[in-house]
Amino acid sequence: MQNLTVLGTGVLGSQIIFQSAYAGKDVVAYDLSDEILAKLPERWDYLKAAYLRDLPDATAEKLDAAVSRIRATSDLADALSDADIVIEAVPESLEIKQQTWEKVSALAPEKTIFATNSSTLLPSAIAPFVDRSAKFLALHFANEVWKFNTGEVMGHPGTDPEVFEQVARFAEEIGMVPIRIMKEQPGYVLNSLLVPFLDAGAALFVKGVATPADIDKTWKIATGSPSGPFEIFDVVGMMTPYYLGKDSADPVKREFAEILKRDYIDRGRLGKGSGHGFYDY
Ligand code: NAD
Repeated sequence: MQNLTVLGTGVLGSQIIFQSAYAGKDVVAYDLSDEILAKLPERWDYLKAAYLRDLPDATAEKLDAAVSRIRATSDLADALSDADIVIEAVPESLEIKQQTWEKVSALAPEKTIFATNSSTLLPSAIAPFVDRSAKFLALHFANEVWKFNTGEVMGHPGTDPEVFEQVARFAEEIGMVPIRIMKEQPGYVLNSLLVPFLDAGAALFVKGVATPADIDKTWKIATGSPSGPFEIFDVVGMMTPYYLGKDSADPVKREFAEILKRDYIDRGRLGKGSGHGFYDY
């Protein structure tokens, strides 16, 4: 599959576009308006710097060639006209995904395979909105796709196994390590492991068992892992765990959210991106 169309050019969409073009695919970037698309050159500059920093074989020529393989449009029919595969990275709302997939179904050629990058919605929740559920599945990327390059492939019960394999091969072609998820699982493999791990670290802190630094140190020394839970919280940023915890039924998660708000968010310590979080950078 050579022609990729990506719907949504935000944090993840822009990375999927750039990475696929870097791997030699012809990519159409679709978003709602030309004003939004006008921000793309800035995103490419940011990503070019990141590739040069993180990938030893990246060169200015290869990065410029990647940009030349990207075409941006806010005309959905135009965006889809020759797509072999569409990857949807629009906001994480079932309503927006529904509207998007219904429009795409009406416009895409018969050959086009449909994939969603949704982090929390199961493919079977979105499949009723597409006109070709056998050709629909999830291909889930991790943030900073050029270095954290898992491509979790997850179908719903009606996904054609051949389509599943085609998408796993496509993931490999764009530099991802395909992870075949054999049955629907909220959170895929990655977040099914990571979320309970982060929750466990937060609970040790909230209960006063050990400091964040000592919790991280324990994990790193005893397992050889490069990061502990609080270093990961700093990369994710404080807002996501705050929103996930503040209305939780679990009192420990609510207390963690309160601590995040009072001692970190209200003091501008939003995580690594702001220069301060559990650690100073
Ligand atoms: P984002 O808010 O950064 O980007 C969303 C983009 O979609 C914006 O450019 C917006 O203009 C555009 N958009 C809004 N409505 C649209 C529509 N109807 N049609 C086309 N484009 C539309 O969001 P994001 O963080 O890139 O997340 C996008 C998807 O990727 C979500 O499903 C999310 O769960 C998933 N995801 C995010 C991450 C992450 O770390 N941010 C990781 C893995 C998966």
